[in-house]
Amino acid sequence: MSSHAIARARTMVVASLFSAALFYAAPLQAQKCTISPAQVKLGETLRIACPAEFTSAKLNERSAKLYPQPDGKRFGLLPISVKDVPGTFSLLISRNDDGAPQTLPVVIRKTIFASQNVKLAPEIEGLHSTPEEMALLTSFRDAISEIRSWADPLAPPVSGCMTSPFGVKRLHNGKYTGEYHGGVDQRTPAGEPIRAVTAGTITFARQFNVDVQPGRIFTGCFTSMAST
Ligand SMILES: [Zn+2]
Repeated sequence: MSSHAIARARTMVVASLFSAALFYAAPLQAQKCTISPAQVKLGETLRIACPAEFTSAKLNERSAKLYPQPDGKRFGLLPISVKDVPGTFSLLISRNDDGAPQTLPVVIRKTIFASQNVKLAPEIEGLHSTPEEMALLTSFRDAISEIRSWADPLAPPVSGCMTSPFGVKRLHNGKYTGEYHGGVDQRTPAGEPIRAVTAGTITFARQFNVDVQPGRIFTGCFTSMAST
């Protein structure tokens, strides 16, 4: 046998082993859930993809429903709060049948957020949400559509620069508020249209506030749309 023939024979053996490995690995993998990213930062969102029989996921005291997808699998989003504690935790994924739940390790990485001081006029600093406004916000968060209309990637609502990123620790007139910035602020010229970050249904519209319900899992809320 020439050296070329040996090399070709080896290649064929490797190739056939590889295809056998794919053949046997595929049915096993189909039974398991996967998460991304493998290591999540504070303030980020965990994506959970599962076979159809897995219906909910729980990390510490926070749970997420897994929704049916057009391909027959299920998908859910689990937010990691800026205030969560970094470390390694177990994600428990439960099924709607008698099968055993699956646990996956989740690594929450330590994440450093900058501080940002916001100068406020005394009459603005004294403003607080009314019970009616808080009830309205809660109703947005609780209203989850079974029909998904959003898709990746999400687009920024305007082209302007970011004046305040998500997660910064907020100071009002030099004093820590104990709160972090739960959104993203952008500056853009007056008159530029503000677009929803993805497709959805408008559930609420009032001067300076619009809520877009993209269906399932998350709500996009544009507030304080004013020139300052
Ligand atoms: Zn903001």
